[in-house]
Amino acid sequence: MENERVVYLDNNATTRVAPEVAEVMGPFYTELYGNPSSMHFFGGGVQKHLDEARRKVGELIGAAPEEIIFTSCGTESDSTAIWSALRAYPDKKHIVTTRVEHPGVLNVCKFLETQGYRITYLPVDPEGRLNLEDLKLAVTPETALVSIMWANNETGVIFPVEEAARIVHAKGALFHTDAVQAAGKIPINLRDAKIDMLSLSGHKLHAPKGIGVLYVKKGARFSPFLMGGHQERGRRAGTENVPYIVGLGKAAELALKNMERENAQVKALRDRLQEGLLKTIPNVRVNGGGAERLPNTANISFEYVEGESILIMLSEKGICASSGSACTSGSLEPSHVMAAMAVPQTYAHGSIRFSFSVYNTEAEVDFVLKEMPPIIERLRAISPFADGKPLFGMDACETHKH
Ligand code: PLP
Repeated sequence: MENERVVYLDNNATTRVAPEVAEVMGPFYTELYGNPSSMHFFGGGVQKHLDEARRKVGELIGAAPEEIIFTSCGTESDSTAIWSALRAYPDKKHIVTTRVEHPGVLNVCKFLETQGYRITYLPVDPEGRLNLEDLKLAVTPETALVSIMWANNETGVIFPVEEAARIVHAKGALFHTDAVQAAGKIPINLRDAKIDMLSLSGHKLHAPKGIGVLYVKKGARFSPFLMGGHQERGRRAGTENVPYIVGLGKAAELALKNMERENAQVKALRDRLQEGLLKTIPNVRVNGGGAERLPNTANISFEYVEGESILIMLSEKGICASSGSACTSGSLEPSHVMAAMAVPQTYAHGSIRFSFSVYNTEAEVDFVLKEMPPIIERLRAISPFADGKPLFGMDACETHKH
């Protein structure tokens, strides 16, 4: 839909490519198009730009350039980390993760369960926080890998991964973190951390979609996912996506340089929206509001209404946000994150994620604050649940679809 006005508050889904990033990528399509593996000067000239990007990405997360492997996306990085750990420790058949991971980790674990692996899914409390005592009890000599996300994509809740990694290392398992939502948004320094592997994704930090990174700590056991050529020191075969890698290098440089200022900016916008909604609309809650959170994310539930209905009505006004719930096979399921947090049923279905970037403005927030109360009022007026009837199952989904 081509809206006259687009208010894009879905930056945890993807971000605008920064103009500075698009600009540095351009020459690598039509001028500097050599293959970095080539022996001749033309390819070699490209190689040094890859080296530069690798250094910049390393700086963003406190890693050495040799510890950075470029991949195609965060999902590839997650899969590589998990499969690598299982190959590194073929006798260990246990993985520990959390109930609130992204499908990039959860669905691999679910598949592995069908292949004879045992998976422990750690719970979270009602604010979305992890209890490290649960982690200590879960890791055994059989554990090959613990994979815990740095920040949750739906709520922005931040996990204490550095502490978790120390616990896991002391027990002799590998530690991976999915930092796709954290990288570029909060400081990360892997230099003294016990984190063996970390995933990040370019399109969450103003680089293009389709470029990711897997950090592998020097000395950690590693086995490649894609095998073939000797690219990335034999750790990820396939000719490098040079323009995207250069773009990610620039995005990493910008994120590091501007992080403090941009965080203050997006947090002010996020808090303005959150406070405004709580003030003007009754029966609203902030999911994970009591936990340490990413400064750009607010997950807000509106009681007695269904998230998808809100999203459709917001979309008609040009406002882009997202919801964790989905009408699947005729039944309305709250998101696995809301379910793990035991968000009350009357709220769990009406959760909306607003996620900001530095390109958002106060005027946009005020526009949402103006549009939101009548939308919720209208939906509550037609909601069959607001008068106390149950809020489960097919009927909930069907009612709002028609
Ligand atoms: N992990 C988390 C926490 C994410 O939020 C996402 C994307 O939404 C991914 C992994 C997947 O990243 P990509 O889209 O680059 O495959």
